[in-house]
Amino acid sequence: MINIAIDGPAGAGKSTISKRLAAQLGYIYVDTGALYRAVGLYMLRVGVDIDRADDVSARLDGVDVKLQYIDGTQHVLLCGEDVSDDIRLPEVSMTASKVSAIPAVRAFLFDLQRSIAKDNNVVMDGRDIGTVVLPDAQIKIFLTASAEERARRRCKELTEKGQNVSYDDVLRDIIDRDYADSHREIAPLKQAADAELIDTSNLDLEQSVECLLNFVSKRIGENE
Ligand code: C5P
Repeated sequence: MINIAIDGPAGAGKSTISKRLAAQLGYIYVDTGALYRAVGLYMLRVGVDIDRADDVSARLDGVDVKLQYIDGTQHVLLCGEDVSDDIRLPEVSMTASKVSAIPAVRAFLFDLQRSIAKDNNVVMDGRDIGTVVLPDAQIKIFLTASAEERARRRCKELTEKGQNVSYDDVLRDIIDRDYADSHREIAPLKQAADAELIDTSNLDLEQSVECLLNFVSKRIGENE
């Protein structure tokens, strides 16, 4: 199986680009952030105090999260309910970031991520895929862009979805999440030593997809 690990900060375009890359290659796209979001959403719904790691850990028993692929698109099922849209709400983003710093949550999602990659060719995106989840992935990319450019893109995306957001709020959320994700003790966001750094600040979506596709095609050729 070929495993492609794509890590990087919030809003670097990981999911859009990874999705396109997977479609081109005929691989399964796994958005691991969606799993942390589903856990965060569950904790919000049951009313657990997210800042109490022990309470969150104790509630993991009730979390039944599954990924389903419908026409190649990933759907997230939480206790049987399709929550693919709900997990994108802004309040779920920060909750996901908080629960993701809890070791029991990471351990809970680890096996699910590993088993998908073991049985399929995947493009898997997240924060710790190249470093922790799939350290033996044949291809690793660390995708980044400046915080301002990422905020601009995220703002546009949310506005297009009809959400009323301000650039300053989105930028602050990105900077806060970058900080939290890079400074947590467990599986912090960082570039794997053997990952290729790709900065998309000055590339549009098409150029970014092309850049990754070129890089990946070359590496797949080398691995064959
Ligand atoms: O990628 P996305 O922004 O949807 O991820 C939501 C949150 O989940 C991130 O802020 C990060 O804290 C967490 N996450 C993680 N490890 C991953 C993927 C996401 O800690 N592999």
